[in-house]
Amino acid sequence: MADRPAATALGYCTNTAPVPGTLRTINAKDIGPKFRHLHGRRYGICPCGKEVTVTERGNLRRHKQPQE
Ligand SMILES: [Zn+2]
Repeated sequence: MADRPAATALGYCTNTAPVPGTLRTINAKDIGPKFRHLHGRRYGICPCGKEVTVTERGNLRRHKQPQE
């Protein structure tokens, strides 16, 4: 990816802002009772291409960038 955000030496992404419009909330109705614990969790997509949990503050959780 051309405009990938910076990463630390360990491969962790330094970006914490989700791409606008990619935020979604997990709905237990869509994923079934097996994944009920995920209900209400928010996910967003990072510019590095990874989909990550979003914290209450709206920041992406620390994650490693996908390897190519
Ligand atoms: Zn990232």
